[in-house]
Amino acid sequence: MAIDLSTRMNFSYGEPRELAPGIVRIVANNPSPLTFKGTNTYLVGSRTLAVVDPGPESEAHCAAILKAAAGRPISHIVLTHTHHDHFDGLARLAAQTKAIVAGYGRTVPPKGSHRTAPDGREISSVSFAPDIVLRDESVLDGDGWRMRALFTPGHAPDHLCLAIEGTGVVLSGDHVMAWNTSVVAPPEGRMADYLASLERMRGLGDTLYLPGHGGKLREPERMVRAYLVHRRMREEAILGAIREKPRAISEIVTLLYPGLDPKLLRAASLSVQAHVEHLVERGLVGGDGPPTSDRLLYPA
Ligand SMILES: [Zn+2]
Repeated sequence: MAIDLSTRMNFSYGEPRELAPGIVRIVANNPSPLTFKGTNTYLVGSRTLAVVDPGPESEAHCAAILKAAAGRPISHIVLTHTHHDHFDGLARLAAQTKAIVAGYGRTVPPKGSHRTAPDGREISSVSFAPDIVLRDESVLDGDGWRMRALFTPGHAPDHLCLAIEGTGVVLSGDHVMAWNTSVVAPPEGRMADYLASLERMRGLGDTLYLPGHGGKLREPERMVRAYLVHRRMREEAILGAIREKPRAISEIVTLLYPGLDPKLLRAASLSVQAHVEHLVERGLVGGDGPPTSDRLLYPA
């Protein structure tokens, strides 16, 4: 494995911890194989605050955010993306703070279309119409802080990283993390977008990423390069397996992930599917119709 992952993380649930000047993390108590220790909520600023990612719907987590604010106004709530573990706490926190809500925004696909998350749950069940729509390079100003949005789809179609101006710090959401690689799972995730979004982060010169899960990431561009190498190796392994003999995604998963935790089987299958879709898009793997788990894939 080319990636030097770190599962180190110093925290207590609900306790604010300052990770950079004016940037405080609170970890929500929603651990799982996909969320690691739980979702990270960040408070940015000193006089008035922005909350980035309210986290899951939880009375205790919302109370922990308000306690950490210690009476300072929360002027903005910003979303890196609308997956449940980052978004579901928005309604409660917005009701308590009357903050301005900012994010990329998205509309729910028509009813009846099949959209599930890697853990089997439905993806966003509500449309998200933020007060302030952020696009690539959009700047959001608060009292004593300024953040710049980097549109980074791939893990989710509405994903933003948020660069905190003047600090070298990027709140990297689920795009780039220290503890694990990012899940890119169709239909929500798209590998072509994801790889382009990794390239998007290169050469920006930032010194610290604070991700949506797990601990801080120093020398982040090294990790971005490692993620790219990891994806290239994975793609080569998948293409190699298909060139050996026609195989289905389910068989490739068994080959690539020996001894996989059964709880992660669905995420692994969708991740392989994302790579296969990317190979099909470039004409390297053949087949008609979308690649499903059991359909045989042929080299093109
Ligand atoms: Zn997440």
